[in-house]
Amino acid sequence: MSLAIFGSHVLTPGGVLEDHWVLVEGQRIAAITRTRPRAETVLEAPGRFVLPGLMNLHNHCFSEMVVRNRTEDGASGDEASLVYRLLMPLSRLALNSLSSAERLAAARLGLLQVMKGGATSLLEPFRNGIPEMFQAALELGLRFWGAPYVFSSADPRMGADGVMEYASVGNDDGNADLLEWDRLRDLWDGQGEGRIRLAMSPHATDTCGPELLRAAVMRARALSVPITVHVAQSADEVALCRQRHGCTPVQYLERVGLLGPDLIAAHCIHSDAEDLALLARTNTTVVNCPRTFARGGVFAPYGRFVAQGIRTVIGTDGYNMDLLGELGAAGMISKLEAGRADVAKAGELLGAVTHVAADAVARPDLGRISLGATADLTVVDLTHPHLQPMADPVRALVWLGHRAELDALVVDGQLVLAGGRHRLVDEASVVAEGATAIRKVWDMPEARAAFAGG
Ligand SMILES: [Zn+2]
Repeated sequence: MSLAIFGSHVLTPGGVLEDHWVLVEGQRIAAITRTRPRAETVLEAPGRFVLPGLMNLHNHCFSEMVVRNRTEDGASGDEASLVYRLLMPLSRLALNSLSSAERLAAARLGLLQVMKGGATSLLEPFRNGIPEMFQAALELGLRFWGAPYVFSSADPRMGADGVMEYASVGNDDGNADLLEWDRLRDLWDGQGEGRIRLAMSPHATDTCGPELLRAAVMRARALSVPITVHVAQSADEVALCRQRHGCTPVQYLERVGLLGPDLIAAHCIHSDAEDLALLARTNTTVVNCPRTFARGGVFAPYGRFVAQGIRTVIGTDGYNMDLLGELGAAGMISKLEAGRADVAKAGELLGAVTHVAADAVARPDLGRISLGATADLTVVDLTHPHLQPMADPVRALVWLGHRAELDALVVDGQLVLAGGRHRLVDEASVVAEGATAIRKVWDMPEARAAFAGG
């Protein structure tokens, strides 16, 4: 199989090349050339910008769809209420009440949304009750690190007074979840010619006890798989960590051995200066998801982490799932926080979801358009009226663009999306079947009560 794509602009490690062809042979980039190569499939139209495949390293598409349109404008209260009153209990309800076919339909819809946001790679933590995520990722041709959670306390409850109850932290060693992780790994790891992998995801610092965290990190490091965990998502989580362990969530993770270059720490927004220094010193990656917090009026500036020398990537956390659009939001929020315009520049933001993200999952063959690199590409069309006239393609894309510019996706050399449409699935059926499954959850009395604030 060979594929040639003409880019009016091609983003390479050395800068943007004008009017070049990218030739893909098999799963590799075989040439980047001014002359038109021979290939079985040729995409030739002016105005395309060929980028390394974008990598979304933090997302939860299933739980987000379950609460879609119920979380903006203050409808879900503060960030802790959103997580503990809506996301966690309703995703549990959905898993328990939908059939496997319905869960698969929902997974397909969620992953289709992720891909149509520009991503060729996804790291997705999810409850292990929806193993259909792996099947959907395989069908859609996505590069996928599935991260079935391990928990000490899988279903914390927030009472009407806002006080949290963690049924079993300290009692449950999480061993059943670790065994389920092993089982899913046996079934799925390496499928799709290696595109489907597992990552280890202890859920968060408040829902995982020290023994489980130590066991999870040992397992992950023995198998050389990426590790991801939610850290300092809310002020409540920090207060609880201090009460239980006498330290901040970041210090807690250091104590149990989680910090390091293979850890992708989600959010870290309630971290102090010492925490940030510790993350930088241990080469831990922070994944920043600014819009999920912005909807709740919470500042989560990407630039705050970068300024401390932390390797920082950008994800969508399930909210919106438009990774291209998230870059602009991450940049604007960072400029507001810094009070200056010369931070979080467009090229740096694109780097955060390409080569920086590739390094965070120890895959230097991804995230770069260079000879011999693995052929994952995101191709956008810059001919849209709102981008013209155009003086700088990188700034045009980051500051004026979003998922509407998506034209094609190549994963492992395979053209999985072209002309803005997915080629491996029928989009209309995926949308109809996925939405039907999610609406079934919305109609359940427990969901109605939760949405009404009951
Ligand atoms: Zn998350």
